[in-house]
Parts: sequence; C-alpha cells; structure tokens
Amino acid sequence: MKIFLFLPLALCMQFCSYSQHNKTSTMDSTNKNNPVYSTTDTNKVNLSEEEWKKILSPEVYQVARQKGTERPWSSPLEHIKDKGTYYCAVCGNGLFVSDTKFESGCGWPSFYQPVSKSSIISTPDNTHGMKRTEVMCGRCKSHLGHVFEDGPPPTGLRYCINGVVLDFQKAKQAEAGYNKDQEKQ
Ligand SMILES: [Zn+2]
Repeated sequence: MKIFLFLPLALCMQFCSYSQHNKTSTMDSTNKNNPVYSTTDTNKVNLSEEEWKKILSPEVYQVARQKGTERPWSSPLEHIKDKGTYYCAVCGNGLFVSDTKFESGCGWPSFYQPVSKSSIISTPDNTHGMKRTEVMCGRCKSHLGHVFEDGPPPTGLRYCINGVVLDFQKAKQAEAGYNKDQEKQ
C-alpha cells in the first residue's frame, strides 16, 4: 500500500526536477517549450495544428499557422542592422542572413535573398483580391510573409517577412574576432 502512495510522489519529483533542468539549459532560447526547434536539424517538421497551438505563443501561432500578418512597423527586428542570422521562430530553420537585409520602408523586416533555395518555399497566393507569392519556411511550412519583385539588386526581390516568426541570433563575438583577424592578414 505504501508503494502506491510513494510512486506518484516520486514521479512528480522526477518530473519537476526534469523541467527545472530543462529551463536552465535553454535559458537563452525563447523556445524552451518547443521540442521541434533546432538550428541544426534539417529534417522536415510535420505537426497537427492542435500540436502547434500547444507549442507556440498565440502571436506566433496566428501568423505562422493561420497566415496572419503582424501590424506594420511593430517588429523591433525591422530596423536592426546587427550581423547575424534570422531563423524560423517556429522550428529554428536558418532563413536569412543580415547581409541580405535592407530598409524597404514597407513596415516589415525585408531581405533580398534567403539563406538557400531550400530554406523557404514560395507558392502563389490569390487571397484578399491580390496576386501575391506567399513565402513559407522550408522545414516546417509555417507562413512567413510574401515575396515581391521590387527589391534591390542583385536579385530584385523583396522578401517581406513578419518579424514575429523570425528569431534573430547575433553573430557570435568569437566569430567577429576571427573575421577581424582574417581581414588584417
Ligand atoms: Zn520553420
């Protein structure tokens, strides 16, 4: 009888210590409750909308999974010029690098080229009485924004992306130092 009483308590304690450990190990990540988030895993992610809803914040879910659009000029990422990489905030897939970001004045973070051809998926979007090209994440198929053909050289493209579905990570200091050393040589 004692065992039955003890077992749930022991399980609970184990679970609690596990979740606490989990928190400390991913403290620098905003995606601690997201099991599919990875900046290195390239396997495609295919979850049900119900599962996404449990994992994502309401703001991210609305844009990424319901093809929503954040308010223009609302993203703190629109104007930053720091060197680094923009990952999919839903799954961690590398999408854009800071070198291809430009000031478009459209109200959303804008890039003229994705990291690679497979990092994003483009598909026709004829909703809202407009002919546009929707851009989705190549790994998790989350809605990111749209691509227009009025961007700067060399591509002439403007990837207009909702900042809420972007996860920006600054280039590491160590790398910056390394690059400086390379320039000197
Ligand atoms: Zn993704």
